[in-house]
Order: sequence, then structure tokens, then C-alpha cells
Amino acid sequence: MVDRRPSSVLISAEQLQRRVAELAAEIRADYPENLHIIAVLKGAFMFMSDLVRFMDGSVSMDFMAVSSYAKGTTTSGEVRLLKDLDMSLDGKDVLIVEDIVDTGLTLTYLQEILRARNPRMLRTACLLSKPSRRKVDVAVDYVGFTIDDHFVVGYGLDYAEQYRNLPYIGLIET
Ligand code: 5GP
Repeated sequence: MVDRRPSSVLISAEQLQRRVAELAAEIRADYPENLHIIAVLKGAFMFMSDLVRFMDGSVSMDFMAVSSYAKGTTTSGEVRLLKDLDMSLDGKDVLIVEDIVDTGLTLTYLQEILRARNPRMLRTACLLSKPSRRKVDVAVDYVGFTIDDHFVVGYGLDYAEQYRNLPYIGLIET
């Protein structure tokens, strides 16, 4: 495999922890009880696991997996559902937790299929947002950091399945 290690740190581990704690407090203030959190695998696994550790009170969790990038750094615009939820969303206060919103196509697809399952409320939290890349206007209620058009890895995000374990967000030169 070509070694394309992150060339620099965009968001440090300390900045991530501070911001995720703020988001958890904001979300909990809006939804003090019975929040049902859905993490979108694989990219959101680290964000979700830190987010819920900063939350008091009751939280339930479920996972789904989608694929939008086959390999590398370019998008096909095509979204595939790889793993569906285990639990029903009927009448629940649901929060989708995503790693990054880029073109917005993945999130639009997810919101559409989840809204059809009759949650009482459906909101979305994204760790990162790249507004300059948006192709569709999609609602994101909680955003961790807004970033420029860079390809980023770490804190759950990969390049060809590598670097998800980094505790910070790094830049990959494309
Ligand atoms: P969208 O459908 O919004 O274009 O893309 C969303 C998905 O593309 C994200 O969930 C993520 O998996 C992937 N993605 C978009 N930008 C980046 C990036 O900078 N780095 C990585 N690793 N994945 C990205």
C-alpha cells in the first residue's frame, strides 16, 4: 500500500475532546431524556463513543453501515446500505451521528430512510462539515467543526481503511 500518512494535524485530540463534550452538553440540554442514538459505521464509531461518555441520563444506541466511498478519496455519489438497524424507531427521539458531511448525499439518503420509520424526532450531529463541497442542501443540527475542502483522516475516518485509530484529525495530500 502507498504510504500516505497525514501530512499535518488539522484538529488536535484536545480540541476534539473539548468540542465533543460541548456538543454532548448541548444535545442533552435539548433532549434530557431517552435519546436514541444511531451511529453511521464505520466513520462515526469514535465520535459516538466519546459523545455518549459525555452524556448523563438515559441513552440507547444502534448502528447502521453505509458505503459511499468505494476506496480512496473520490465520491461516486452512490450510497449503499450495508447494515440496517436492529431496533425500531417508532415514536423515539432519534439522533443520527455521522463523521463528516461532504456532498450531503449520504446524509440525505439516511435521513429519508430513517424518517420513513416514524421517529418522534429526527436530528443529526456531524463531527465535521465541508460546506464548500455540498451538492444537496441537507439539515445538520449539530456540527463539531466546519472545515475547508481537505481530505481528512483519523478519529474514525479512514484512507483505504487506515488511520481510523488516530486520536486527532489529520490532513492527507490528494
Ligand atoms: P457525502 O455523501 O456527504 O459526500 O459523504 C459522506 C461520507 O464520505 C462520509 O460519511 C465519509 O465516509 C466520506 N468522506 C467525505 N469526506 C471525507 C474526508 O475528508 N475523509 C474521509 N476519510 N472520508 C470522507
